[in-house]
Amino acid sequence: MATYPVTIIGAGPVGLTAAEILSYHKIPVRVLEKNDSPSKEWRASTFHAGTLELLEETGITDALISMGITADKVQYRDRKKGLYAEFDFNLLKDETKYPFRLQCPQSTYVELLHKRLKDNKYVDIQFNTELVEIQYNDEMVTIVTNTPDGQNEYNCSYVLGADGARSRVRKSLGLDFDGYTLEQRFLLVGTPKPFNEYLPDISYVNYISDPEEFLFILKVPEAWRLLYPINPDIPDEVALDKDNIQKSLQRALKTKDIFPIVERMIYRVHQRVANIFYKNRVVLLGDAAHVNSPMGGLGLNNGIHDAVDLSIRLVRIINEDSDRERELETYNAARRKVAIDYIRQISERNTKVMSEQDEELRIQLQQELAKEANDKAKAKEWLLRSSMIASIRDQGIGKLPESIV
Ligand SMILES: Cc1cc2nc3c(=O)[nH]c(=O)nc-3n(C[C@H](O)[C@H](O)[C@H](O)COP(=O)(O)OP(=O)(O)OC[C@H]3O[C@@H](n4cnc5c(N)ncnc54)[C@H](O)[C@@H]3O)c2cc1C
Repeated sequence: MATYPVTIIGAGPVGLTAAEILSYHKIPVRVLEKNDSPSKEWRASTFHAGTLELLEETGITDALISMGITADKVQYRDRKKGLYAEFDFNLLKDETKYPFRLQCPQSTYVELLHKRLKDNKYVDIQFNTELVEIQYNDEMVTIVTNTPDGQNEYNCSYVLGADGARSRVRKSLGLDFDGYTLEQRFLLVGTPKPFNEYLPDISYVNYISDPEEFLFILKVPEAWRLLYPINPDIPDEVALDKDNIQKSLQRALKTKDIFPIVERMIYRVHQRVANIFYKNRVVLLGDAAHVNSPMGGLGLNNGIHDAVDLSIRLVRIINEDSDRERELETYNAARRKVAIDYIRQISERNTKVMSEQDEELRIQLQQELAKEANDKAKAKEWLLRSSMIASIRDQGIGKLPESIV
């Protein structure tokens, strides 16, 4: 039987990215997934320039671009007053090959990776295999799994916990997941009916403020997506009712037209970061390590950056005998800093400007954003941060331990 030094828990977008990068460097990996196939949920729908740059070498970026659409502007609107700030990605044309946001559902990315990996001789993906327990010491990690044929146990050198927000790996390590969960629930709906017929000049990414029902409008190749908060007194099944969704769409787009619904999903927003991203030979990445508000389209992208950073380090540890503890310590320091000082800040600011109840404060937040958008140097800085180019430039990806002071 082939030996797999690295086991990845979770065949989500982040686990499969790590499998892709490690196998690209000829490190054998085993991926364990509790479900019987890769997830088809659309969920995230944005790939930022920083991410496209990181995935370029493997050829994923070109494949992904061919399946998505590009948003060249981000708009901030007020539901009553209309457009108040617009950031144009064209300002980044001398900074990156990808001066846009690529709009493409997460499920397309997962499917693309799964197709590339399923016949890769360095990768073994096992579906219907749920991690139930982990034990580790300085020499190895022992994994216990549940499969349709019963319980299995085996050893490997490293375990990557890419098993999502409710991570069993994180819980087995006994790590805290500090932060908060918003009381509000959100409803995401998708329809193929073009929103730009109702809101002319709308861009493919729009944050629309309103104290009662703010809106986040996005375009993916298959549909327009609308995300809005649900009234706290309404149970999930009522919010998901197709007639009620029609009413929300009609209110948002100021029409009586009927919209075919191709996607509807309720979810909660969390801002949480694990207190440490590794213990010994077990490392967390993606939603297992951090979760944030989707306002900014950053969660998946940040997880992909973790996967690339960590894979570069594992290649050095396994192939070049680099010091494991120092590499993982550096991973922890850099990736926690990005999660707290970049991702949380950007997503909290977006959420606040859209949802602030206090009118004076909301207007002040809108004016600050408008000022940034109208000042070329400031707008460029804003775009570099929100495209995740700034966090890569400042914190690096897979930077050598000695380069961190
Ligand atoms: C509605 C919505 C919209 C979003 N929009 C955006 C966006 O626009 N941009 C963005 O960047 N992010 C967005 N996000 C966040 C993004 O979806 C997540 O950050 C992303 O899915 C994280 O990927 P992951 O691989 O870390 O975890 P997951 O996608 O949760 O994958 C984890 C995998 O692990 C498997 N697993 C779990 N437990 C076990 C176990 N014990 N054993 C084996 N397998 C296990 C699961 O079945 C799953 O396949 C959005 C999220 C939601 C809910």
